[in-house]
Amino acid sequence: MYYIDFDNTLYETGRLTKEVLSTFAKVIGKTQGINPNIVLEELKKSFNSTVDNFESFATNLSEKYNVNEHTLQSHLKKILIENGDKFTFPDAIEFLKRLRKKGENICILTYVAQKKNLKQQALKLAGSGILPYIDEVYNTTRFKYELAIDYKNGIFIDDSPRDLEGLYKAGVRHLIRIKKPNNLKRTSKELNIPEEIPTYTSFDEIEI
Ligand SMILES: [Mg+2]
Repeated sequence: MYYIDFDNTLYETGRLTKEVLSTFAKVIGKTQGINPNIVLEELKKSFNSTVDNFESFATNLSEKYNVNEHTLQSHLKKILIENGDKFTFPDAIEFLKRLRKKGENICILTYVAQKKNLKQQALKLAGSGILPYIDEVYNTTRFKYELAIDYKNGIFIDDSPRDLEGLYKAGVRHLIRIKKPNNLKRTSKELNIPEEIPTYTSFDEIEI
């Protein structure tokens, strides 16, 4: 079984956040006659992607700036669901297809820090276009190295140093690190693991 991380591994989460915030800023700016760039700077300061989710953020914004909540929510839905697949890395889809062809089972193993954000994660997954290629989804608020998984026999693919280190400690020996561009926070960190693990910037380079 392949256990593959979602955010910043298969999906360009930072770009999604940018698009949602700039769309909200445009709507607010237009409705209120404020420069959207000024609004955007305010939104960037007030949105914490680890604990906040876009849906409740939109609710708060509609009160704060006196804009129609439904308008913000429908823009959000469009970005997440209708256009969500544009945030999925093209090489990731090709990789999933290759695994399928080889008859491999694929599980998406994705961690969200807070229970209130599980719905948003499910929407991101649905919109990403990857669901036809995978067998299971573990959308968990527990650390992914603390689950009842056969860690020894799985192949785990992730970008997060914390999760890679935790998985190694949990007994995983088939680990692959993904280092996508624009993800410097995670790619720049050296792993505290007693051996080299295979590291790739593109899924195209991974042999299966
Ligand atoms: Mg990740």
